[in-house]
Amino acid sequence: MNAKRKITLILSIIFSLIFLMMIINISLNFRNYGIKSVEDKALVISELIKYSLTAHMVNGTMEKREFFLNQIKDSKHIQKLWIIRAPSVVKQHGIGFENEVSKDEIDKDVIRTGIAQKVISENIFLDNTFRMTIPYNATSDSSLNCLKCHDAKIGDTLGAISMVIDIDDVKLMGLRTVLDIALVAFAVLILIQILTSRFLTPYMMIFLSIKSVMKKAHSGDYSNRVEVVGNKESVEVAILINKLMEKFQHVLNEIESKIDIFLSHKKEEKLDDQLESVKNTITQLSDIYKFKKTIEHDKTIDDIYKRLIVIFENKLKIKDFTFIECDTTNKKTTIIYHSKKINCNAEEDGCRADRASVIIDSCQFKGLCKSFNRDDERFYVCIPYSISNDLDLIISIVSDTYEETRRVNSLIHFIDDYIDTAKTEFVSKKLTQKLRDRARRDPLTNLYNRKYLDEFIDTAIIEHKEMGTSYGILMADIDYFKMINDTYGHDIGDLALKVITSTLLENTLESDVVVRYGGEEFIIILYNCDNDRLLEVAENIRISFSKKKIKVSEDISFSKTISLGGALLPYNTDSFWKAIKLADVALYEAKNTGRDKVEIFDIKLEQYKNFDFDNEY
Ligand code: GH3
Ligand code: MG
Ligand code: MG
Repeated sequence: MNAKRKITLILSIIFSLIFLMMIINISLNFRNYGIKSVEDKALVISELIKYSLTAHMVNGTMEKREFFLNQIKDSKHIQKLWIIRAPSVVKQHGIGFENEVSKDEIDKDVIRTGIAQKVISENIFLDNTFRMTIPYNATSDSSLNCLKCHDAKIGDTLGAISMVIDIDDVKLMGLRTVLDIALVAFAVLILIQILTSRFLTPYMMIFLSIKSVMKKAHSGDYSNRVEVVGNKESVEVAILINKLMEKFQHVLNEIESKIDIFLSHKKEEKLDDQLESVKNTITQLSDIYKFKKTIEHDKTIDDIYKRLIVIFENKLKIKDFTFIECDTTNKKTTIIYHSKKINCNAEEDGCRADRASVIIDSCQFKGLCKSFNRDDERFYVCIPYSISNDLDLIISIVSDTYEETRRVNSLIHFIDDYIDTAKTEFVSKKLTQKLRDRARRDPLTNLYNRKYLDEFIDTAIIEHKEMGTSYGILMADIDYFKMINDTYGHDIGDLALKVITSTLLENTLESDVVVRYGGEEFIIILYNCDNDRLLEVAENIRISFSKKKIKVSEDISFSKTISLGGALLPYNTDSFWKAIKLADVALYEAKNTGRDKVEIFDIKLEQYKNFDFDNEY
């Protein structure tokens, strides 16, 4: 139904209802008014008869009253009229000429109670009557003293008069009046319709059209326009609103097309509501920008990972995820971070996502990746990112349910945006890390140097103080190293240094630190170490080095020995540097007592313990 017809129908119903109520009200009032006037007429007749009968009685002409009564009975609209005498009057004056006794129950009631009664008998069309029975009660005022002729008291009912009056005329007149009013009402209704459609409808139509356009805009569809119809003002309003909508949609499209290039959203993933979609894109852009600014000021690559962890946990609500770095040059896969127990063996078996350079989704094929524990029934999605020529980053996300995996899939474009943003920072921080690492390593042996030792001790001291971690310190020095240089030359001396380097690394753990302290002097710091381990590691180094062959040529090779001194923190001292010095004292003892041996700082070296080493280190 179009707007105009709708408004016309609504207004017609409203006005018809008003007129109907008006007509019902008028009809009822008119009926009451008609009945009241008939009742008044009956009362006047009854009074007239009462005075006439009294006059006849007083004049002694009662026998002539018939003429008078018949005249009244013949009057227009009087259908019936009869007089009733009360039993006391019958007793005193007789039954009368016309058997003037009660004709029905109403007569009897009125004679008994002295109260008038009326009965309206209504039919749909004709034969509508008004019956009224009015009592004559005894009075004794100067004009009419009933007690003169009747043996009665004041107030006694002496008789009554009943009459039936035809009220068809009254009803017909009422109907005619109602019909006239209805006709006038109908005419007014038509007039109102004309006026409404001329003045009100344009406004109502524009209002309904605006409502429909706004409703659709509210649900995200801004393509609808207000109908340009009606009078001058409504056309103006429609044009203004349409221009505004046009501008709004154009600006929205512009913003969307401009900001979209910054994010990896796909068109089909967009929301139906363009405004909502633009708002989400801007929020996402702002988050990404904040992330970018934050990581620019971060110092290390670990800090970037920490930011990503917060985003994964708090923003993306991903709970179980792993960051894996693949060094493509050295073919080395390293698990950098895992939020929960890890079930991926990528470090040893390699990473399928990295190899294939595609997203690995276990929902597609169960057991797709051989590196993921087959006994683990959960789902995983692994997303590979190429950060630089020699670095790939793989983000592996594990979910308990298929639905959660689908949700993770829908978040991949967010992850893409964050990783894309972090790429340059990853590369520059990796480079800084490499340079920093290089400055802390000895170029010949690639072992840590003194600079690293200084920094390591600074942090190790804190851990020792806070956690009570114990350390074992070994000082190692090749015996008669100078002779190698002197006998075979400097290059063979360098080779011997590489041999001892591998010996040291083979006999220590990843958590231990091996430092080239000087020419052919090394410090080994053993993490979480007691006396037994200190001695065991030192002996292992000594024995395995002595067994190693240092090759000069195809025919010539030789072996060397090494001496080691050890001390324990906090067993021997609470100071890291002092522990190093005590290990050096023990090494000195080993050298002095024959070389190719291990000496651990103990009671016999106690004399050196209280030396003030601080000045030296
Ligand atoms: P000791 O058993 O008492 O330790 O005798 P040693 O000959 O090993 O002791 P010394 O400290 O006198 O000799 C160390 C030598 O190591 C001196 C130095 O020329 C040599 N040296 C130091 N750095 C290097 C290096 O980088 N390469 C080579 N080939 N030799 C080095
Ligand atoms: Mg030496
Ligand atoms: Mg030396």
